[in-house]
Amino acid sequence: MRTVYVNGDYLPETEAKVSVFDRGFLMADGVYEVTSVLGGKLIDFGGHCKRLSRSLSELEMKNPLSDEEWLAIHRELVARNDITDGMVYLQVTRGNPGDRDFAYPADDVQPTVVLFTQSKPGLAESPVAKVGWKVISIPDARWARRDIKTVQLLYPSMGKMMAKKAGVDDAWFVEDGFVTEGTSNNAYIVKGNKIVTRALSNDILHGITRAAVLRFAKEAQFDVEERNFTIEEAQSADEAFITSASAFVMPVVEIDGKSLGNGTPGNAARRMREIYLEEMRKAAI
Ligand code: PMP
Repeated sequence: MRTVYVNGDYLPETEAKVSVFDRGFLMADGVYEVTSVLGGKLIDFGGHCKRLSRSLSELEMKNPLSDEEWLAIHRELVARNDITDGMVYLQVTRGNPGDRDFAYPADDVQPTVVLFTQSKPGLAESPVAKVGWKVISIPDARWARRDIKTVQLLYPSMGKMMAKKAGVDDAWFVEDGFVTEGTSNNAYIVKGNKIVTRALSNDILHGITRAAVLRFAKEAQFDVEERNFTIEEAQSADEAFITSASAFVMPVVEIDGKSLGNGTPGNAARRMREIYLEEMRKAAI
C-alpha cells in the first residue's frame, strides 16, 4: 500500500482524507504538478516548483510551502514508497471553507496539500517510444487560461477517450485552425533541421519539458521556430513529436490517419529524446 502525504501527514492511502467541501472537489479550484523520478531522483524539480508558484499566484493562492519543503516531501515519498522510476503527483487546492460558495474564502482557510507517488518501472525505456504515437485532431474546447496548471481536466480526459475510441494514442487540440497542444503534452513538428512548436501564451501550458527540450535542441544546432502550425502543415512535415514530464519526448508517426515520413519515429525526435534523458538524468536531484 502506498504512503501518501496530506496536509503535513504521511498516511497509508486508505487513511488519507479530504473534506467534501474542499474547493478542489467542488470547483476544480486547485493546481497540480507531476515530477518524474528516474533512478530514484527527481527530474527538473526546480522547473516544476517555479511553475507551481506561478499557477498559484495566477489564482491568488499563497504557496503553502517553500521550495525546500516541497523537495523534502517529494524525497520522503520517493523513499517511503521505494520508487526507482515513476512520478510524484502534487496538488494544492484552495481548501475547505466549510460550505459551498463561488467566491474565494477568506485568507485564513488553509489550502489542501496532497502528494502521492506512482511507480512506473522502466519509465524511460518505454517500448512505445520505439514505435511512436498516432494522434487525431479534435477541437480545443478548453477554457482560455491553459497556462495555469489546474486540476480542471475533464476536456483533456474526453479528448483522451476520443483518441482511444479512434484507436490512436492521443489527440491534438485545434483552435482557429492551429494546433494548440496535445491532451497532456506540447506538440512539435520537424521540417529538415527546423523544430516548430507553438509560442508560449495563455493558450497552452508552459511545459517544463518543452523549455528543456528547446534549450537542448538549440545546443544541438537545430533551428527552433516558435509559431503556430496547422494540422495540414503537420501532416506534410518530416516528423512530429510531443513532450511531457512523464512521456519525455515521444515521436508522433501518424496524424488523422496520415503517416509522417515512413511511419516510424524520426531522427530529430529520437535524438531529442536521447539528449533530454541523458542531460536530465545527470541533473536529477
Ligand atoms: N500541455 C498540457 C495540457 C499538459 O497537461 C502537459 C502535462 N502536464 C503539458 C503540456 C506538458 O508539460 P510538462 O512538460 O511540464 O509536463
